[in-house]
Amino acid sequence: MRDIVFIERDPYAPVRHCYAVSKILYQGKSPYQEIQVIESPEFGRMLVLDGVVQLDEKYEFMYHEYLAHVPLHAHPNPENVLIIGGGDGGTLREVLKHETVKRAVLVEIDREVIEVSKKYLPTLSVGFNDPRAIVVNEDGYKYVQDYEKEFDVIIVDSTDPVGFAQVLTTEDFFRFVFRALKDDGMFVAQTESIHYHLEMVRTVQQRLRKVFPIVDLYTSVVPIYAGYWWTYSVGSKKHPVREPVRPVKVKTKIYSEEMHRHAFLPPGFYEKLVKGEFKL
Ligand code: SAM
Repeated sequence: MRDIVFIERDPYAPVRHCYAVSKILYQGKSPYQEIQVIESPEFGRMLVLDGVVQLDEKYEFMYHEYLAHVPLHAHPNPENVLIIGGGDGGTLREVLKHETVKRAVLVEIDREVIEVSKKYLPTLSVGFNDPRAIVVNEDGYKYVQDYEKEFDVIIVDSTDPVGFAQVLTTEDFFRFVFRALKDDGMFVAQTESIHYHLEMVRTVQQRLRKVFPIVDLYTSVVPIYAGYWWTYSVGSKKHPVREPVRPVKVKTKIYSEEMHRHAFLPPGFYEKLVKGEFKL
């Protein structure tokens, strides 16, 4: 059988990735978005939302391990964690590897993403069976407004900042997040790439600086995301985030104490980037 060619439709990137696909495993439309699961001989199964590849089985660890383990190891005792988005379950799986975590609430606007992931992406969705996991189907922007000093760590694992995900990068949202965090809580969000989305990275950093006393940025390389050099923006109420403060006991493919430190941009370059002195 000849491969089918899948061309990504990413409205937020100046390139179009193109994948050889051996099978389309699922295709449907939820009230929120078009959902597909495709199979690639090179990347394994891939989740596609509104034409944009969200993850692949081969490299998803390069994103989920960094998104979850950096804040969770920078926090001395993360017990109560909130994940906004992340319906595939990859971030939840990593969060639940921490023995300190007593409760992980996942607020995913689109219940169908979770159902599709449970059926077609079992290595990612494994955490949904954990008794510590609580799933809420609601807009994360609204959900977070109901809480005060509730969570140790809040993680945004959302789609690109367009449509219903756009509110998750606003200063308003960051203020609600700040209120929902305990006094030593921290926040992290995936904030797109340095190469193709530099203005967005800067804007988010500047907004976070208006709200949190400690703001930082770390990166990992994600081969399937256009721009590759992926950023994670952090806002912390009390603890710095550049050093892990707990020994790394979780089983990972790449995350470690030394990779934690290495993920942060050198302070000089980081400041240049946020101040707009680094231009492309
Ligand atoms: N790792 C992926 C990436 O960066 O491309 C994200 C994957 S995850 C499937 C993203 C999820 O965020 C989607 O399922 C989407 O429905 C959810 N989402 C987007 N905006 C949201 C919001 N405002 N509240 C809750 N979930 C949201």
